[in-house]
Amino acid sequence: MTGNTYAAKGHTYSYYRCARKKRNKQCDMPDIPRDQAEKMVLDALSRILDGAELDRLAGLIADYAAKQDADRKAEAEYLREELAEAERRISKW
Ligand SMILES: [Zn+2]
Repeated sequence: MTGNTYAAKGHTYSYYRCARKKRNKQCDMPDIPRDQAEKMVLDALSRILDGAELDRLAGLIADYAAKQDADRKAEAEYLREELAEAERRISKW
């Protein structure tokens, strides 16, 4: 499952889609709205894990999200520098 988001008519919609369906449409499983899919996962996890384990998992997920965010910021900074360099080269023409 991969997370996807699209915007339409001033709203943002997030959903999960089967990776095979996304890649080559070889699956007819319907998309699942994000809220519904995440609630199902959380419900299943809370039946398997106790409170301390859930807390630990939440911490791992938060760390992962923070790292992803840092990676995206580094990538954005790199692209800004590339853009600035390209603009410098264009201005010399
Ligand atoms: Zn599928």
